[in-house]
Amino acid sequence: MLIDSHCHLDFSDFHHDRATLLHQAFDAGIRRIVIPSIARKHWHRTLQLIGENCGVRLYPALGMHPFFMALHQESDLAVLDRLLSLKAGQIVAVGEVGLDFAKAKNNKEAQLALFEAQLQLAKKHQLPVILHVVKAHDQTLKLLKQYPEITGIVHAYSGSLNQAEQYIKQGFLIGIGGAITWPTANKKRVLFSQLPLESLALETDAPDMAPDGLKGQRNTPSQVAVVAQALATCRGEPLEKIIQVTTNNVMNTLRLADICLLS
Ligand SMILES: [Zn+2]
Repeated sequence: MLIDSHCHLDFSDFHHDRATLLHQAFDAGIRRIVIPSIARKHWHRTLQLIGENCGVRLYPALGMHPFFMALHQESDLAVLDRLLSLKAGQIVAVGEVGLDFAKAKNNKEAQLALFEAQLQLAKKHQLPVILHVVKAHDQTLKLLKQYPEITGIVHAYSGSLNQAEQYIKQGFLIGIGGAITWPTANKKRVLFSQLPLESLALETDAPDMAPDGLKGQRNTPSQVAVVAQALATCRGEPLEKIIQVTTNNVMNTLRLADICLLS
């Protein structure tokens, strides 16, 4: 049983064939999908997806993504706070949140403030977080040290071995997606074979980050099976073990067994 721990199934890219894709995901062995949201206008749609669909259980996370700062308003934080209370027990995490300094010029301070405000909400509602971190791992780790009770998943991990070890020390899982299959990603494959399997999570980030061979095309949740196979190959471990352990990791870190899927 596979889990796609990061799939943007709420995106309009999937409006026309969501049910077909869920059937395909079921056939590929996927039984659970976590849907992080990126901005207030996505929250309602993401919450509507709660439940079991075509045999696949869908779990929502709510948050404000650092890459889309222009979409966010100060008042969204109060709405998020209210929704996290209203839907307590149904929402798996605050996410996707974090820091993206790749193209950030003058909004680093605003990103940091928004991220910290959402860490405070995660703490208040005792929820894990789903992190998006690009070129800002040291800043993120520094901030997380002030919230030792918070764990979660660092999605589409792009940092160093040392940074990964610091996340793991705080109880975070390292998210691995389609990039592990890209021919240029040798360094990533070496890194992912050095980390403890008990600290890894599989994901697609669909519709983005399609595996090698589908690059440039729309990614889909079924591809998490390809990510699992690639991880098994680069670690030299049986596929069954990779699936079993990474599924357990996500079940435990996001406490999926405790989530109520009735909307
Ligand atoms: Zn994402």
